[in-house]
Amino acid sequence: MNKILLIRPASNLLKNLPLGLLYLSSYLKKKFGNDIEVSIADFRLRGTTNPKEIEITLSEFGPDIIGITSLSVEIKETLELARFIKDKFPDAKLIIGGPLASSEHELLEQFNIFDHIVVGEGEEALSSIVNGDIDASRRILFAHDFREVDMNYIDYPDYNFVNVSDYFHMDSHEAFQIHKAAVPIFTSRGCPFNCSFCLHMFGKKVRFRNIENVIAEITHLVTRYNVRELHIEDDIFNVKKERMILFFNLLKQKNISLKIAFPNGLKYDFLDEEIIRLFKINGVFHVCLGIESVSEKIMDVLSKKHNLKKLTETISLLSKYNILAHGYFITGLPDENIDDLRVSLEYANKSKLHHYSIFKYIPFKKTSLFEKYASILSIADIDRVEGANYHYSNMNFSNINNATLDKLLKKNIYRFYFSPVRIFNTFLAIDTRTLLRKLYIFIYYLFTGKVYFGEKRNYTGWYNPDFTSK
Ligand code: SF4
Repeated sequence: MNKILLIRPASNLLKNLPLGLLYLSSYLKKKFGNDIEVSIADFRLRGTTNPKEIEITLSEFGPDIIGITSLSVEIKETLELARFIKDKFPDAKLIIGGPLASSEHELLEQFNIFDHIVVGEGEEALSSIVNGDIDASRRILFAHDFREVDMNYIDYPDYNFVNVSDYFHMDSHEAFQIHKAAVPIFTSRGCPFNCSFCLHMFGKKVRFRNIENVIAEITHLVTRYNVRELHIEDDIFNVKKERMILFFNLLKQKNISLKIAFPNGLKYDFLDEEIIRLFKINGVFHVCLGIESVSEKIMDVLSKKHNLKKLTETISLLSKYNILAHGYFITGLPDENIDDLRVSLEYANKSKLHHYSIFKYIPFKKTSLFEKYASILSIADIDRVEGANYHYSNMNFSNINNATLDKLLKKNIYRFYFSPVRIFNTFLAIDTRTLLRKLYIFIYYLFTGKVYFGEKRNYTGWYNPDFTSK
């Protein structure tokens, strides 16, 4: 019998439900039944970095296959943990998958720690490894070389391995979270659009879960854990209008009343008044829109052309229904001049957005943007990975110097937020407790000058601080 241990390394970033691992567990159990035993160790929960404790956890289970998943920005802790495991358990196959493996597989391969590195979704690749179908020489496994994962092969992620309430906290991916009892959920994978900066981790074909399965999952989370808030994390939830309507109708039929947010963004082109009204009736309180830039030139760089009339209409509709409208923008892009950034900031300032976030561009290899601007973007891998974390990036590939960029962005915070109309609209759209919490954070950051890019993460290492040695 194959024993498979799925691990999430300890990290001081968001401690959200390890949905990727729970999906893998469900999939493997359905595929191999009693021929395998699966377990999950989420070392983030207790901040487990003690080598002895890790060794005991692994020894007690005695895995034949160990799978690690982590975010790109968790590369240091992932490499340290992986090296430790490889030293102590050399006979177990060590595999890495998830966002880090998908974006940095070439870099990870250089460390010579992992038996296999899975790029893209991992269910089928891992199944082939368990089956013994993968030759040891195939170090990097691309999801597109395997059968496409059928999103309805399993009903929903294997929640048996976790106490969902252990993951209830106010530090989630959702910036305006209202209830502590909140969970992320996926109802589909994939996105058909071609934004040049996007990694397309789940591919370009949208694969939908049956809405009945999604509702069954939500019912389980509500009845068992008293979940009160959903963060829908699909690449693109709103591509099919009828499916969205069915989703909300079924929630209503089941008498499930939740607060719902879309922190991963929705496509504004597919939102109309009927849907936004439905959102309002069904507890949707926050919609993020990936605007990135409205400069003609930068829209070309990003392969993301906007219909500004439609975008403005959608934002106004969200505002009309008092749903928090949140625009995501990107700066620090190749070919970007100060006027390109000014155009986007002006658009944000004049719009009815309640909130905006501006992120510095973090290049991912294998994206079309990276390939087009390889000569500008090809900084050392380690610098690229180390130079960013979830809220922070020290990279700037634009033609705007850092001092000017920082000054402009900081100044715009005042221009955007100190608008009486925006303040009034935000009061109408935001939950009072969230407003007080946000005001406190906003004032703190405003006075400490950290408001726009967060802080560089201070990671000191725990096992072998020299993580760069290969
Ligand atoms: S819409 Fe979002 S998920 Fe789709 S390609 Fe663009 S960035 Fe990627």
